[in-house]
Amino acid sequence: MGGKDSRTVRDLRRSNRASVLRHLYFEGPLSRQELGPVTGLSSGSISNVVTELLAEGVLEAAGSVGSDGGRPRTLLRVAPRSACLIGVDVGETRVRVELFDLNLDEVARSEQPLDDGRHDAALVVQLVEKGLASVLARVGPPTGPLLGVGVGVPGIVERRSDVGAVVHGQTIGWDAVPLEAMLRESAGLPEGGAQGGGHRVPLHIDNGAKTLGQAEMWFGAGRGARDAVIALIGSGVGACVVTGGEPYGGASRGAGEWGHTVLCVGGRRCRCGARGCLEAYVGARAVIERWREAGGEPGADDEESALAGLLAAAQGEGARARVAAEVLAETAEYLGAGIADLVNLFNPERIVIGGWAGLLLGPQLLPAVREATDAYALRYPAARTAVEMCRLGPDAVTVGAATLPLRRFLDGGGSPPPGVALSV
Ligand SMILES: [Zn+2]
Repeated sequence: MGGKDSRTVRDLRRSNRASVLRHLYFEGPLSRQELGPVTGLSSGSISNVVTELLAEGVLEAAGSVGSDGGRPRTLLRVAPRSACLIGVDVGETRVRVELFDLNLDEVARSEQPLDDGRHDAALVVQLVEKGLASVLARVGPPTGPLLGVGVGVPGIVERRSDVGAVVHGQTIGWDAVPLEAMLRESAGLPEGGAQGGGHRVPLHIDNGAKTLGQAEMWFGAGRGARDAVIALIGSGVGACVVTGGEPYGGASRGAGEWGHTVLCVGGRRCRCGARGCLEAYVGARAVIERWREAGGEPGADDEESALAGLLAAAQGEGARARVAAEVLAETAEYLGAGIADLVNLFNPERIVIGGWAGLLLGPQLLPAVREATDAYALRYPAARTAVEMCRLGPDAVTVGAATLPLRRFLDGGGSPPPGVALSV
């Protein structure tokens, strides 16, 4: 038996399974007959793959539809409770851990605050561990075994052959933090499935903006687009640039640091140490700071309440309202100029604004942001770029993080990682 031949057959089988699974995941439920045209596979191949995936518990029947005079056709879908996934968001003010079923519906969540925004790496690992312990109690029937843990972090993620993912998070003081090794050494990472067999579940770490971008592309405002930018505004500012349907990483996965592109040479000091970054003008912290400098009174300690206070103040009357409205108008112009750079650089069909601060400010600022984008970008690409709001809400980094192990599962044709048994 030639090794090459058996490998080819195995590859073909996996790619057939992946194709069926992906179409059912994103477009299901579908009947066997409907799977033919969308996958391009023969009815025999579809029948084989479906029989296997049903036996393994990855697929399940989801009712049936009548067909013109013939036998009713069974609809198939990915069984949401056949396995589960964990998404972790190492955010600016807290660490959130969420357990999802295969549909990415939440099963359990745990949230640990990061006091004073402290991002001491050892402390963050402890908080992730604590969050995992809390949600792992819910893994197992009826959720199925755990396929993997995805982690979104505020920094550039480098993959090293010796220690795995290393995080360069300049704005939070992380200089080459070996987060993957630290998490693997901690007691918090569970073994795979009921038949663990000593295998640790797969751990995937990526930039938080990229994971959220992936979630928006799969389930939110990016669906159907091939070239898009998901622009995220929180305390900091980041972006996920998608070209040809895939997130763009650059030579060392550092692409998309839109918040640290320069808006004003010699301008305001940024958290990264440079001057005049976009983040130093439109990040939540910077907007509040600019309001204070203009004579506003943010009052509230936390950024979210302060930003909400700014929006409310702008709706009032008198000098205080004028100051607030002015700060918001400037913010819209800065943001529009930053978005115009994205239009000119990437010529995307869609730019989607998200992040908690983006979602808070967006509805009020969007018309002015669009106007500024048109004023600063070249007319031809600007006329072909839609600027829209994210659809998934501010908590979607955990959903995005969970898409990391989910993607591997779908690409692998529904084969679980070593040590994880799906069917009982
Ligand atoms: Zn910066």
